[in-house]
Amino acid sequence: MNIVVCIKQVPDSAATVVAEGGQASWGDAPLVMNPWDEYAVETALLQQEAHGGDVTIISVGAEGATEAIKSALAMGCSQAYLVSDPELAAADSRVIAHVLAAAIKKVGDVDLALFGKQAIDSDMGVTAPQTARILGWPVLSLVSVVQELNPEDGTIKVERSIEEGRQVVESQLPAVVTVSKDIADPRYPSFMGIRKAARADIPVWTLADLEADIPAPLVRWPEVVNPPVREITNEIISGDSPDEIAETLADKIIGEKVL
Ligand SMILES: Cc1cc2nc3c(=O)[nH]c(=O)nc-3n(C[C@H](O)[C@H](O)[C@H](O)COP(=O)(O)OP(=O)(O)OC[C@H]3O[C@@H](n4cnc5c(N)ncnc54)[C@H](O)[C@@H]3O)c2cc1C
Repeated sequence: MNIVVCIKQVPDSAATVVAEGGQASWGDAPLVMNPWDEYAVETALLQQEAHGGDVTIISVGAEGATEAIKSALAMGCSQAYLVSDPELAAADSRVIAHVLAAAIKKVGDVDLALFGKQAIDSDMGVTAPQTARILGWPVLSLVSVVQELNPEDGTIKVERSIEEGRQVVESQLPAVVTVSKDIADPRYPSFMGIRKAARADIPVWTLADLEADIPAPLVRWPEVVNPPVREITNEIISGDSPDEIAETLADKIIGEKVL
């Protein structure tokens, strides 16, 4: 069973984004593995424990941006590749999907490509279906349970969590799967895993190494602006009894036409 997990390195979720010169900036925020991708890594490792094989990490990002990859290796993944090329500086999600599809093909014999449900910095949630389309593979999105994975038959059966309930879906492999956080709690890296990851050799592939036609970006972000500053005033409601405080609060809510 050969599984690829696509992970994105993103600014720490506690970082504040500010618009500077029309562009988004997270300042000196530490870079981490996209939190949703940790669930994809955990899913891959659980399937590897059940069926054997390799778990390969692929990330597209700036050269040297290997902290997220090292976190995934420390969790127990077998190997990792970073795709980095100056040509990707203005990449849109279609370009990233073409790059990921080419990298998955270069890894070779992949049965399953796992993704997080979205990246917390750009939040588009489109990269996985675009990658599946380029590969010509089916995509199973928002998977909360892998019910059966059968490498011999080349099939997968999953549950999808959707607002209306749960849906059981079967598909042929190879397939692209995006996972939700119900799937499994990501494991903590072991001490041995952290040491191994620190020494790991992470090959860097350029676009030329992928030997694929990567299109030019079509979508531009010409401007990013901060949301308007909201005036907020606080008022502490006091009274002699809970009933009196509740009555005053209710009057204010009705007076402000909140209800
Ligand atoms: C500062 C900045 C400027 C940008 N400028 C533009 C622009 O001008 N035009 C434009 O269209 N987009 C722009 N982007 C968006 C950028 O191209 C997106 O990162 C890319 O389109 C992927 O979309 P997403 O991050 O929303 O991922 P999603 O589609 O939300 O990600 C879903 C999943 O795909 C995988 N994934 C996503 N990205 C990667 C990756 N790099 N490597 C490996 N796996 C990945 C992960 O598993 C992730 O959980 C910009 C982003 C930033 C941070």
